[in-house]
Amino acid sequence: MKAVIAGGGIGGLTAALCFHKFGWDVELCEQAAEIREIGAGIQISPNGMQVLRALELDQQIEAIGFRPRASQLRMGKSGRPIVTASTQAYEARFGAPYLHIYRPDLISVLKDVVLDRLPQAIKTGVAVTGYGQNDREAWLTLDNGLKCNGDIIVGADGIRSTIRAQMIGQDKPDFTGNTAWRAVVPVSKLGRNCPLPVSSIWLGEGKHAVTYLLRGGQLANFVGVVERDDWKNERWTERGDKADALADFAGWHPVVTTLLEQADEHYRWALFDRAPLDQWAEGRAVLLGDACHPMLPFMAQGAAQAIEDGYVLARNLAEQNDHKNALDRYFALRQKRTAKIQAAARANMSIFHQRSSAGKLTTFGPMWLADKFKPDIADDRLDWVYGFDVTAE
Ligand SMILES: Cc1cc2nc3c(=O)[nH]c(=O)nc-3n(C[C@H](O)[C@H](O)[C@H](O)COP(=O)(O)OP(=O)(O)OC[C@H]3O[C@@H](n4cnc5c(N)ncnc54)[C@H](O)[C@@H]3O)c2cc1C
Repeated sequence: MKAVIAGGGIGGLTAALCFHKFGWDVELCEQAAEIREIGAGIQISPNGMQVLRALELDQQIEAIGFRPRASQLRMGKSGRPIVTASTQAYEARFGAPYLHIYRPDLISVLKDVVLDRLPQAIKTGVAVTGYGQNDREAWLTLDNGLKCNGDIIVGADGIRSTIRAQMIGQDKPDFTGNTAWRAVVPVSKLGRNCPLPVSSIWLGEGKHAVTYLLRGGQLANFVGVVERDDWKNERWTERGDKADALADFAGWHPVVTTLLEQADEHYRWALFDRAPLDQWAEGRAVLLGDACHPMLPFMAQGAAQAIEDGYVLARNLAEQNDHKNALDRYFALRQKRTAKIQAAARANMSIFHQRSSAGKLTTFGPMWLADKFKPDIADDRLDWVYGFDVTAE
């Protein structure tokens, strides 16, 4: 059996390894001339790490990852902590660690392992234009006029998925009213304003920032999200002005402002998502990752969910003789969970971006009190996300 995958992002590459684990052959078509990721950080939570462990990638991933001591919600200006969760305890609690990883390092590990286990699988520089199928097989059509045939087509081609557009119809993802700033800075430039070895979410009115360390603590990652609807460019390579970034976070804690001050490049892009879909497959074609459930990054779960998808999809196809039953089961197992996480990410926006004093008091006050008297409360609330192990089902 053979899976033909459109898209060589985190979702597509991990799915390739999942299919290989369950005995399938794979061909993967990526439009870019080479498999690569932008220079930014990503957080991989224990639920994603469980899959990477099942694929025997954990040692390589842990070697390139940074283990934070804790994750914190803090006030953006004063830096006052509201909730602290000990991420170091996650291995014992959830069975796998919480890691911060430099995206180019993660994609290069995934790519190298695919090339090692499936040497002929990756085709780069070929854009998928659509798919076709009959009773016996399915194929991707490519911009070079060729076809790529297999038993199942997997659309792992991201938020602007071509496979999704053919399957469900052409439409646009929803602009969420948020624009994100992104920067990565060597910690040697930050002096005493270097972020702690902690994943911090800094809260503000209509905005928030996220800081954490990467690459053994040598790099500091910054994401700053600002509600605004006058700028909707979603190219990840668009540079913005340092002065604009600093203006968005003027008066914030020096850890935040120093990062922006010291960054050489300030990228910015608009954040889009989609309402949950009620169809992920058509015949032998199926979607995964951002192609079917793009979400705001406010739960740090988009890639982790794409990773979970790949495992569940490959296992179900390998276990069931009939592809329709397998794809129905995949949808049943995945759609509710990912829709709940999409909704939780949207809900976090209003929590993180409280504008009124009353709103802050009634939201952060109880959180701060709960953290004081029941320090595990943040972990309890995340059990359903981090404690879910698709490899154990
Ligand atoms: C600011 C920000 C922070 C985030 N932080 C986190 C985090 O901490 N943790 C987390 O889990 N998630 C995070 N995410 C989400 C995560 O980045 C995405 O959910 C994840 O990368 C989706 O992976 P994917 O493989 O589904 O799609 P993509 O990464 O978009 O990959 C799609 C691939 O398909 C290729 N492609 C597209 N069209 C075609 C075509 N026609 N033919 C061939 N190839 C094609 C693209 O070139 C690309 O390589 C964050 C997102 C943002 C915006």
